[in-house]
Formats: sequence, structure tokens, C-alpha cells
Amino acid sequence: MTEMIPQADPGAGYRAQKAEIDAAVARALSSGWYILGKEGEAFEREFAAWLGQGRAVGCANGTDALALILRGLGIGEGSTVATVSHTAVATVAAIEMAGAMPLLLDIEPDHYTMDPDELTAVLEDPPPGLPPIRAAIVVHLYGQACDLGPMLAACERNGVALIEDCAQAHGATWQGRKLGTLGRAAGFSFYPTKNLGALGDGGALVTEDWELAERIAAIRQYGWQERYVSAMVGVNSRLDEVQAAILRVRLAHLDAGNARRREIAAAYDAALAEGGAIAAPARREGCEHVFHQYVLRTPERAAVQARLRELGIGTGIHYPVPVHLQPAYKDRVPLGPAGCAETARAAQEVLSLPMFPEMTDAQVERVCDALRRLAG
Ligand SMILES: *Cc1c(COP(=O)(O)O)cnc(C)c1O
Repeated sequence: MTEMIPQADPGAGYRAQKAEIDAAVARALSSGWYILGKEGEAFEREFAAWLGQGRAVGCANGTDALALILRGLGIGEGSTVATVSHTAVATVAAIEMAGAMPLLLDIEPDHYTMDPDELTAVLEDPPPGLPPIRAAIVVHLYGQACDLGPMLAACERNGVALIEDCAQAHGATWQGRKLGTLGRAAGFSFYPTKNLGALGDGGALVTEDWELAERIAAIRQYGWQERYVSAMVGVNSRLDEVQAAILRVRLAHLDAGNARRREIAAAYDAALAEGGAIAAPARREGCEHVFHQYVLRTPERAAVQARLRELGIGTGIHYPVPVHLQPAYKDRVPLGPAGCAETARAAQEVLSLPMFPEMTDAQVERVCDALRRLAG
């Protein structure tokens, strides 16, 4: 029995950078200051510099990053926020955490991201009975940009804030610009399996609006502008110093990690083309994909997954149950006019292959070999 290749392996990420990470952790632990200190400030600066613009504010996780953006913009009760059902449930949870009503739109079937025509339609002609739509959270799913052009235009025309969910898209670009710099603000997650992963929870939001960043920096810590005095109602959502120190190490390796992901993706593309059974995932023109996930689409998913398992290849499904069909949301959260039909179809057919930068060439070759054999 050959060894199973995992679909993701955050432990391999730690082992690859162990000396640097251990030194960073030791530095943070020795400092005697554990929450919102020098490491966090340095990481915020370095992350914003890497993005090329804006101000970054660290927080406890990616869900909070999105909820903090909404709170900072004053979008809560009495507002609707449009997003997609084909996403990590976190995106929708964040909207409800802020007190707003989610409106779930459908996806484009080839790229799995929000259908820009449906967004335009609901902004121009809002569904009856809902509070006004004040924001759209667009999710750059699997590491590839949404069709931002028409969505930015529709939001601009209708005075709606476009918020980017970049939890899977650290370093991806749209028309040469890094995702996270294109809307009103962007939320990032540093969950261990993300392209930029902490070794615990972490998140950050980024915006070019300094006042908004200042407000959110206060909200993340009880609404304090000065210690012990809450200027506004806040929460507790802070990035700790140990995770920030780790993230500074990981950030320095992020571009190389993304390049390796693209190299693995290119190898999978070639093997699929040879095999001829399943098409390679679609790339959006003018955008650089960072392959948080490499996602196949096949109506024979169960059989393909079982065959790959036999060959020692782990796979994942992102996501098996769309948000609008999960017990907590079903028949409660409103859908756009398309009724999320493409979303429901995609959930039955998507399959994620192993994808992490530390995969060895031998592991990549084993996956490729299996993909070539899927034809037979
Ligand atoms: C991971 C993820 C989040 C949430 O991040 P957490 O850090 O787990 O809270 C939000 N949106 C998407 C698309 C994600 O993949």
C-alpha cells in the first residue's frame, strides 16, 4: 500500500520553515508582551506593504475580519449584504454576526464566483421585502478573482460597498492588481491551510480608508481609542503576538509558495489534457490564480474520488453542501432570483486535488499519473 497523499498538509508548511518559525515564536514569547504589540504592528505594516497599498488591521480570524469591516461601515441591522452560497459558511456567518441580512446569489458555473449579472440585477431592482442592500461581499474562491469589472461598476452606480473576501486569494491578481486592493475593504483569513497560514487562528482586514481602519482598530478591542475608555461599542477580536510573529515568517515565503502551487497546477493541467477524461479548471483571463484549491468538476465525482483514494490520493470537497441548503440557513436566508441553481449543481460535482507548496515532485507525479489513468 502506497502512502496516502493528503489533500492539504499544514504540518508540512511548519516543518519546511521550522527554524525560522521557532525563532520567531521564541522572540514573541521572550518579549513579555502577548497581544497587540510590536509583532502585530510589524506584520500589519509588512502585509500592507506586500499588498502595495492600504492599511492592514490584524484580528482574530477571517470571519471576524469581514464582520469588523461591516461594523466599521455601520452596516448591520436594517441592511442587506449580498454574497454567494457557494463559499465557506464563514462569509455568511460574518454578515449575520454584524446583524445584517445575507442575500445569497448564484455563481458562474466555470469560475465558481458570483454571477455579476445577478448582482447587477438585484442592485438595480432589489427583491421586495428586504432591507436596502448596502454591501456586496464577493468571494475570490479557490484562489481566483471574481469577474470584478461589472461588479465594481454596479456597486459604484448604486452606492453599495464592494467588500472582497480574500480568505483564499492571498497574492492573486485581477488586471495586474492584487486582490484585496480593489474594493472598499478586504478580509483575509490566516487559518493554517490558507495560502498564508498561521499555526492557529488569525485574520486581517485591509482598506485604503485610514479613518475606517482606525475605527475598526478600536472596535476590535472593546471600542477603545484610549485604554479603558470605549469610544464606541466594540468586540474582542485581536491577533496575538505569537501568530503575528509566525505570519511575518510565512509572508516572506508566500510568493514562492504561490509559485509552487502554480507549478503543481500546470502539471495537473498537462496530465488531465493527456488523460482526456476531465477538463482542467477554467482560468479567468487577465487574472493570476494562486490555487488555494485545484478543483475538478465531474458528474462522476463519487467514482473518481474512490478511484483516487485507491491510488493513495486524498481529495476534498469545497463545499459539499451550499450554505442555502444547510440546516442553519435553509428556508430562512433569502436567495437571489436565480435561486442558486448553479450553486447546487456545482456542490454535487466539485472535487479538490492535493494542493500545498511542500508537495514533493514525486507526490505531484503520482497525482499526475493517476489523472492520466482516469481516462481508462
Ligand atoms: C477560511 C475562509 C473564511 C474564514 O476564515 P476563518 O479564519 O476560518 O474565520 C472566510 N471566507 C472564506 C472564503 C474562507 O475560505
